[in-house]
Amino acid sequence: MKNRDRLRIAVQKSGRLAESSQQLLAQCGFRFRQSRDKLFCFGETHAVDLLLVRDDDIPGLIAEGTCDLGFVGRNVLAEARLAEQATTGSSELVEVRALGFGGCRLSIAIGQDETWEGPAQLAGRKIATSYPALLGDYLRRHDVQADIVVLSGSVEIAPKLGKAELICDLVSSGATLLANQLKEAAVILNSEAVLAGAGLDFVDERAPVLELLLRRMDGVMAVRDTKLLLMQLERQALAQVKLALPKNAIASVLSSDEDSDELCLQAVVRSTLDWAELESIKKAGARNLMVLPVERMLA
Ligand code: ATP
Ligand code: ZN
Repeated sequence: MKNRDRLRIAVQKSGRLAESSQQLLAQCGFRFRQSRDKLFCFGETHAVDLLLVRDDDIPGLIAEGTCDLGFVGRNVLAEARLAEQATTGSSELVEVRALGFGGCRLSIAIGQDETWEGPAQLAGRKIATSYPALLGDYLRRHDVQADIVVLSGSVEIAPKLGKAELICDLVSSGATLLANQLKEAAVILNSEAVLAGAGLDFVDERAPVLELLLRRMDGVMAVRDTKLLLMQLERQALAQVKLALPKNAIASVLSSDEDSDELCLQAVVRSTLDWAELESIKKAGARNLMVLPVERMLA
């Protein structure tokens, strides 16, 4: 491994993961200055630079050592890992963290009027996909032989064009499948954006920067769905109000005066809070309820 004094991260230039990836880095306190050609971002706050690329190129850039890390869909990483293992016998690519955005599924889709009875139904059929390694692995695990047709895009129209009978493609809402008279039959991989890396046991300047990045990312992700709930209440209502709080809430009573009947209660809630939940807390005796976003937490 080459020694380097700055960490280099590959990020999707534009597309579904681009904005959330950069936003996560910003939440970690990393700021960048973009080059004129918009392909490189120099880290102004830390020794971390970004390379803006197509998502498909990210695993390769990491595997060859051009970049140390990358923000990429698990689907792209897993496909590259399997492909590398098939050609060289091993792969150093690993998923360092799951990032909680860009959620989707790699699924097999069949015709809307077909009934799904299990993987055996795929035997001998033509399946179009951009993920031949993942699909091949699924078929092998289920001991099924099928004909994989590799397409780099517009997989969902392959059945209409007569290129294949079925497809194996990314699905989130299912609307694209529906528009093409297809339906989701089996999930091959549950995916989301991940931080990918390879050989991260640095002995140079990158080691402390990586540690800082991971620590801050963990901090950001830990509070992502966390809310701070503040309210006022009479001391006598305390037990009832506590019962009305969401089950996972961590509540503490704030009061400057021990004898006061008027209390302020704060609760850290690790989920979203809807109006109905707030209304039932109010009904239990709380007033002036406030829901505040939690930006950071340092335990
Ligand atoms: P690029 O120009 O970088 O090659 P792309 O068109 O291949 O972009 P996007 O469509 O931006 O890629 O998708 C990037 C990733 O977003 C996917 O690999 C997947 O992990 C995730 N994703 C989430 N929902 C969906 C979806 N409904 N369809 C496709 N990808 C999705
Ligand atoms: Zn792509």
